[in-house]
Amino acid sequence: MDLAFSPADEAFRAEVREWLHAHVPRAPLPSLETEEGFAAHRAWEAELAADRWSVVNWPSRYGGRDSGLLRWLLFEEEYWAADAPGRVGQNGIQLLAPTLLDHGTEEQRARILPPMACGEVIWAQAWSEPEAGSDLASLRARAVRTDGGWLLTGQKTWSSRAAFADRAFGLFRSDPDAARPHQGLTYLMFSLRAPGVTVRPIARLDGKPAFAELFLDEVFVPDEDVIGEPGRGWRIAMATAGNERGLMLRSPGRFLASARRLEELWRRLGRPASARDRVADALIGARAYQLFTYAAASRLLDGEEAGPESSLNKVFWSELDLALHETALDLLGPEGEMADTDWAERYVFALAGPLYAGTNEIQRDIIAERLLGLPKGRR
Ligand SMILES: Cc1cc2nc3c(=O)[nH]c(=O)nc-3n(C[C@H](O)[C@H](O)[C@H](O)COP(=O)(O)OP(=O)(O)OC[C@H]3O[C@@H](n4cnc5c(N)ncnc54)[C@H](O)[C@@H]3O)c2cc1C
Repeated sequence: MDLAFSPADEAFRAEVREWLHAHVPRAPLPSLETEEGFAAHRAWEAELAADRWSVVNWPSRYGGRDSGLLRWLLFEEEYWAADAPGRVGQNGIQLLAPTLLDHGTEEQRARILPPMACGEVIWAQAWSEPEAGSDLASLRARAVRTDGGWLLTGQKTWSSRAAFADRAFGLFRSDPDAARPHQGLTYLMFSLRAPGVTVRPIARLDGKPAFAELFLDEVFVPDEDVIGEPGRGWRIAMATAGNERGLMLRSPGRFLASARRLEELWRRLGRPASARDRVADALIGARAYQLFTYAAASRLLDGEEAGPESSLNKVFWSELDLALHETALDLLGPEGEMADTDWAERYVFALAGPLYAGTNEIQRDIIAERLLGLPKGRR
């Protein structure tokens, strides 16, 4: 494998760096989990999109640059190294968009992707339910056929930023008599402001109000907002999940940037010997994840699918992130929670890494069964 980038790729990297240098807000934006921060991040999405930096790997007709996967990875490295704002549009951009590109209709792509690219419409993921998290196929929210569309009824939960988002995508049971739980499910998109939708914030550990549960009471969705064939939503959702666990949600750029911040912190605090190995482990881990991702990207470029390997990514990045933040807080001591740094806030978010996008226990089962060929565990 050739790990050198071409002069054209390096020129792309330089262009990204220059743009970010000129545009990244000097002071950090307020948290995107608050109403004010959500609005500020939405405006940032528009600024990125105005110069076509919000979705570099998308086709240009939808607002991208046709940059390809490797340049997207380069973009992400520069983005996080520049300490640019978190992406409030990420659920739409990284989960729904690839799904539409692979399984949507041209009409859906043309209607949905451009407003997504510029933050005009921000999407929430409405998959989990109170009794359907790890065992997603046991979901109960239903879609019932009606004239020209479907009526959605049920409860969704743990929906990131749904309190302020505009629309959501999720799976619904459209055939309650299907032989198996993952059959008879339909993948639909709906407006969070439609009649029949109630959005109720759920308190998070950090007290920010954007996380929410959704109550749906006969919410009408027209036929054009069904993705793929009705009743065949599971297969499509699993392709989305591969994106979520794998490289699209967590490009190595953000862990490389965090590991470098940790190293800076360690140096600033006088290079305490007690933390040296942990800081080195974080740097090595971030670099290993970067190389692993390049390998995964080159497999995708060769036409292979993300497959169960994305579970390896998921376990690796979430545990790396957690260890890295724990090290930072140990280094800072009691100061970590009091002083004006964002390590404590980022640590609280890192705590959720082993849970969202499918818990690490479940990912380890997938690795054991599908990659290592071990017998199925007792459930
Ligand atoms: C910060 C955050 C953001 C999220 N954002 C979203 C979002 O935007 N949209 C959305 O739809 N969902 C979201 N989720 C939900 C997330 O996907 C679920 O929390 C996750 O799938 C686990 O489901 P659960 O919480 O119901 O836990 P459960 O499935 O009830 O699991 C509880 C525990 O039991 C373990 N367990 C369960 N089954 C097994 C098994 N078979 N073998 C071994 N261990 C098992 C789990 O690993 C876990 O430790 C988010 C969650 C968090 C924490």
